Amino acid sequence: MTRVLSGIQPSGEIHIGNYLGAIKQWVELGERLGREAFFCIVDYHALTNPLAYDPATLARRTFEAALVNMAAGLNPEKVTLFVQSHVPEHTELSWVFTTLTPLGDLTRMTQFKDKAAKQEAVWSGLLMYPVLQAADILIYKADTVPVGEDQVQHIELTREIARRFNALFGETFPEPKALLNPEAPRVPGIDGKAKMSKSLGNTIGLLEDERSIWEKIRHLPDDPQRIRLADPGDPERTIVFTYLSYFAPKELVAALKEEYRKAGIGTLVVKRILFEELMKTLRPIRERAEELKKDPDYVMDALLEGAKRARAVAAATMEEVREKVGLLLPT
Ligand code: ATP
Ligand code: MG
Repeated sequence: MTRVLSGIQPSGEIHIGNYLGAIKQWVELGERLGREAFFCIVDYHALTNPLAYDPATLARRTFEAALVNMAAGLNPEKVTLFVQSHVPEHTELSWVFTTLTPLGDLTRMTQFKDKAAKQEAVWSGLLMYPVLQAADILIYKADTVPVGEDQVQHIELTREIARRFNALFGETFPEPKALLNPEAPRVPGIDGKAKMSKSLGNTIGLLEDERSIWEKIRHLPDDPQRIRLADPGDPERTIVFTYLSYFAPKELVAALKEEYRKAGIGTLVVKRILFEELMKTLRPIRERAEELKKDPDYVMDALLEGAKRARAVAAATMEEVREKVGLLLPT
């Protein structure tokens, strides 16, 4: 692994699924790779979701997404953290990729099918989403993409796009690999069914009000086959234990599962412990976010510095691409 890239959409409140599936890995990789770790807030991607996108709030959400990532441990002085639209080469390369991506490859993408099913009118931006994502990754010639399981299919498509470009125009791009957090590749939403997603409203936000988080935890579905408190429960049938395993020490989880199986404890007790353990992870993130909110110039300057670094790399790749595809160069 020599260079990583990943991104997050400013499409709503950043949640524990984003944190566990993506950001936590980004922080660790950033410590190891420094500036070779590229992370971006993908604002152009967020335009593809008409339910979440509002021109009046996009800029604020983009800024806040960057701030939350920093609060969660991404150090912009070490890694390259920037906003996608500040590096216009992403969209430029995505056009070239569009011309060599079969339509059928895009219409079979699971994310496209899921999201399109929820929209009355489906715009082609949603269909092209994975092509822009391929450009985000390949413009930096990144070899590793730390993401949640939901993005694996898109990374496979990125590999195919790289392969096709290389076959047509000569060896240019690596074939990047997805990197999952084995502990939490797909965090379920609070409904216990769908993936936790900003756009589904089934989230626990990193900066969400404590009382609101507790209310959500309190209402998490129990093992449906446990009707009375005296019934033995199956910890594998409730997301209370799924969530607990993300945040509590292994021994504590094992002991509570044992008690739950014997009907020694009710779910409410486990939920209280889950809340406490979760808040141990969230409190320091909130404290750092409060500090960063007091210094918005620091956040903005860091993003501009990140974009400058990213652009130097992206511009060089784009020059190479223009030449290889045979455009008349403005020399
Ligand atoms: P949206 O609903 O707008 O698509 P999202 O919650 O899916 O939002 P994204 O910005 O699309 O978030 O994804 C950012 C990163 O978080 C990606 O790497 C994605 O794979 C990861 N991710 C998103 N949801 C989860 C989840 N529930 N579990 C694990 N990883 C996740
Ligand atoms: Mg998503």
